[in-house]
Amino acid sequence: MTTQDLRHHNRTVIVTGGSSGIGRGVAIRFAEEGANIIIADIRESPKQGNRYETDMTTPTADVINNSTPGSAKFVETDVSDSESVASMIETTIESYSRLDVVVNNAGIQIVGDSQTITIEQWQRSLEIDLNGYFYTAKYAIPHIVEQNGQIINIGSVRGFEGGGGPPYAAAKGGVVNLTRDLAMELGDESVRVNCINPGYIETPLQDIVTEDDFEESQAQTLLSRFGTPRDVANVAVFLASEEAGFITGANIPVDGGWLAHSRV
Ligand code: NAP
Repeated sequence: MTTQDLRHHNRTVIVTGGSSGIGRGVAIRFAEEGANIIIADIRESPKQGNRYETDMTTPTADVINNSTPGSAKFVETDVSDSESVASMIETTIESYSRLDVVVNNAGIQIVGDSQTITIEQWQRSLEIDLNGYFYTAKYAIPHIVEQNGQIINIGSVRGFEGGGGPPYAAAKGGVVNLTRDLAMELGDESVRVNCINPGYIETPLQDIVTEDDFEESQAQTLLSRFGTPRDVANVAVFLASEEAGFITGANIPVDGGWLAHSRV
């Protein structure tokens, strides 16, 4: 196989939250397909989880530059700050002269209910988990249109059900419908917009999970294992490829069967 045969050879892909977890897996997988990656994260070093990715130390860009046919650059970005996002998009164009794919992935999950979560926590969660997705799309779209590229949002099974706390469920429901609306807006431009909705994926974000939550998640997952960042990354690489050329506005579960049934 030559580099020309790689599915995303020389395309430019932004992955928000690409230093850890799902974003890291997505960034590395695109680079394996020959893409040039912008890691847009608030931190450069990967987060070390208590359950998963416990000994992760090498920044994603270093892994990509040392061991894949693609290349990568870290750009410090806070997706909740629209100016930081606009500046990251400018740096992307300065670095690689084009932008083909955005993977909106950076997210946080705040544990609690309507009485324990503060107004500040509600606002912070919505700013990252929903506003950040819009800011990145807004500033990326003029460049993506030039390449007839793709936008991939990382939602959640919580976009279709309660659970995960008020701001998380509200934001993820918003991401599901933001995906559909942007797909309507950009269909004429041949820009495809899709959303991957993961179930339980083994990342540092799962440090918030209690032993009870853990057992419930096992019961809700039909397959006999949890998902990995690579399970999500494989679908992202597919959705951004020509093989997925007739898929847009779709919300695709990558959840081991989580949404296929009800616990009760
Ligand atoms: P993760 O392991 O915590 O990684 C998220 C990354 O995003 C971290 O590097 C984090 O940095 C970064 N980040 C946080 N706030 C940011 C900001 N304002 N600007 C830029 N980067 C920021 O989480 P994950 O599990 O990979 O989750 C990734 C996405 O998948 C999220 O949208 C999440 O809701 C979704 N998801 C995850 C699961 C799952 O089971 N893991 C399931 C469904 C959906 P810090 O470490 O400094 O916060």
